[in-house]
Formats: sequence, structure tokens, C-alpha cells
Amino acid sequence: QCAAHCPVGAIYERDETDIFRSAVADPEKKVVVQIAPSIRVGLSESFGLPSGTVTTKKIYTALRKIGADVIHDTNFSADLTIMEEGSELVNRLTTGGVLPQLTSCCPAWIDYVEKYYPDLLDNVSSAKSPMMMQGAITKTYYAQKAGIDPAKIFSVAIMPCTAKKYEIIRDDNMQASGYPDVDLVLTTRELARLIKSSGMDFLKLEEEEADSPIGEYSGAGTIFGATGGVMEAAVRTAYHLVTKKEMEKVEVEAVRGLDNIKKGTVDFDGTPVRVAVVHGLSNVKVLMDEIRAAKAEGRTAPYEFIEIMACRGGCIAGGGQPYGADDELRKERSEGLYQDDKDSKVRCSHQNPSILKIYEDFLTEPMSHEAHHLLHTKYHEIPVYKA
Ligand code: SF4
Repeated sequence: QCAAHCPVGAIYERDETDIFRSAVADPEKKVVVQIAPSIRVGLSESFGLPSGTVTTKKIYTALRKIGADVIHDTNFSADLTIMEEGSELVNRLTTGGVLPQLTSCCPAWIDYVEKYYPDLLDNVSSAKSPMMMQGAITKTYYAQKAGIDPAKIFSVAIMPCTAKKYEIIRDDNMQASGYPDVDLVLTTRELARLIKSSGMDFLKLEEEEADSPIGEYSGAGTIFGATGGVMEAAVRTAYHLVTKKEMEKVEVEAVRGLDNIKKGTVDFDGTPVRVAVVHGLSNVKVLMDEIRAAKAEGRTAPYEFIEIMACRGGCIAGGGQPYGADDELRKERSEGLYQDDKDSKVRCSHQNPSILKIYEDFLTEPMSHEAHHLLHTKYHEIPVYKA
């Protein structure tokens, strides 16, 4: 957020809205747009609505009006991430794999662990972020279903995050479909600029639906945008994978809220699973040092699964969201997502009918060969200069 605060204007915000305008003006391109979980509560502030107001269906409408051909929702791939990451966790738990498993959907955290904790890379889930999964699925499964040449698809992701602009080019695994899985990332602020410059009255827009077959999502996919949300979504599904039952109460209160490090134990029908959630890189260091120290002593840190997000509050307060996030705003944006989850008919990723269908038609099962190729990645140490 330096651009907003630079006193002499020497640092300015990178703006790629012109690339979007060129893409939608090109008749050869099919512009497919996905929106991240936290966009639905972030954009509202740019149009004078109270923070935390959910505007998902107006955003779909606005995107069509500014030229997008197809609208998808990253929440779908948040559900897909949970299927893959949850299955990976169960696999590690049952086969003596490396624990604790660390989440992998935040590119700023991934950059940090590759630079400062490369000795712990085996702990990081191999699941790609929801954005990258959605891009890979768009240019394969969706392209086949829609009968579109994937070479003509221009895949755009609206994200709360400036680090996501780097993630799409981090390595060849980001082209698993045979093409760049995501061609362009725009932040919430860039989307607000696009909508405002079009002259439309956002507040008066009708509400439309996303396009099938990869637009449908569960409440678990929505809460990804708040700190603790990935963990809560994963617990709902991992509980089912382990016990073959459904949780009576899906809310996992221990991992909600803005405490720097949240810890809890979830009872998987007699098996205790110890979880932790951390947000803000200075807090991340505390947990990573604890895991490293335990490893040096030949023991495992007392957790099975840890969610890690670089931004305080998670993506609801990411670097691409409207400026000025304080803890009050973080709380209000998170409450918007939790309400959206509460209002959802389907609240667990493994119950999303479109998720069941993609495994039936295309991916076979979580962690299958095809799923590994498209939805998982590898990490590598990034050398850092030490004085
Ligand atoms: Fe991006 Fe921040 Fe979310 Fe990480 S926590 S994905 S850096 S917005």
C-alpha cells in the first residue's frame, strides 16, 4: 500500500486495467473471469456501501457489462483445494507423512518459506492456490465442456492480492494446462476502477448468476477469505473423509477471530487433530521457529495442520483491497463472509454437486494422476543474500 502513502509520488500503483480492456475488445479472445472469495466483501466499500456488504451477484453482472464472456467463481476452486488439501492431510495422517501440514494458498507466505525456512518445505501442502487451480481447470475441463479452443481463452483473476500478480508466472507448474493457467490478475481496486470508468451505476445493477459448470460453490469456499477460513473449511471435509460422517456443527469457533495465533483441537470421532492458524508474517515466524526447533530435537511440533496467511486478517485485508483496513474493518469484512457461508445451502466442499461432478467426469478422485498434474505443484529454496 506504499503507493497511497508515498509523499512525493515516486512509487505508484501498478495498473493493468488496459490489458483487460484490450482483451475484451479482441474478438478472437474468450475472456473468462474468476473472482476470489474476499472480493465479494471488499468491493462494496469502493461504492459507499457499509464494509462487509456482500455484492457477489452484482459483481458478476458488472463483469459481464464490462465485456467478460464467462464468469466463474474462485470459491469453486476453494472447494477443490479443500478436496485436494484435505485428502493430502488424511494421507499424511494415515501413512506417517511429514507433519504438521502447512497450507499453501498464500503466495506471499510461499515466497517467505522458500526464502527463510527451506528446510521445512516438505511440510507445505503441494496443493496449488484456488486461483491457479481455477485457471488450470478453466483451460482444460471447462474448455472441453464448452467446446472452446483453450488457446483462445484469456483467463482473468480478480484478487485481493498484489502477490498474486507474481504467482501466475512463478514457474512452469503455473502452465499445467499447456497454456498460462491465468493470464492476468487484477486487484479489487483495479476492478473498482474498471467499473467506475465504464459509467455504470454499480448499486443499481441487477443480480446475475455465475456460469456453470465451475461457478457453483459451498459456504466453506466463501470463508477462505478470512483468517481461519481455510482451516475451518478443511476441518469440515477432513472430518468427513476420516469418519465418513458429517459434523453436527460446522462452525469451528476456535479458529475464528483476529488473535495472532489461534490453536485448537478437533475431535475426529475419537482421534484428536491439533490445528493452528496464524496470520501476519511476524506471527508466522513464531510458529515456524517452533516447528524448526522441534525438528532439530527429533520430535514433531504439537500440531497436525496449520493455516498460514501473510496478511493480518487474511485476504479480506490483502494488499489489493480498498485502502485503510484496520481491525474493525477486518472484523466487518470477515463477518460478511461468515454470513454468506451461513446463508449457503451447501456448507461443505465435499457436498458441492459441481465438485462431485468434476471428479466423476474428469479428475477421477482427489490426488489422482490428473489432479496431481493440474492442481498440485512443487516448491524450491530461493537463495537470499545474507550480509
Ligand atoms: Fe495475498 Fe494476503 Fe491473501 Fe496472502 S493473505 S493470498 S498475500 S491477500
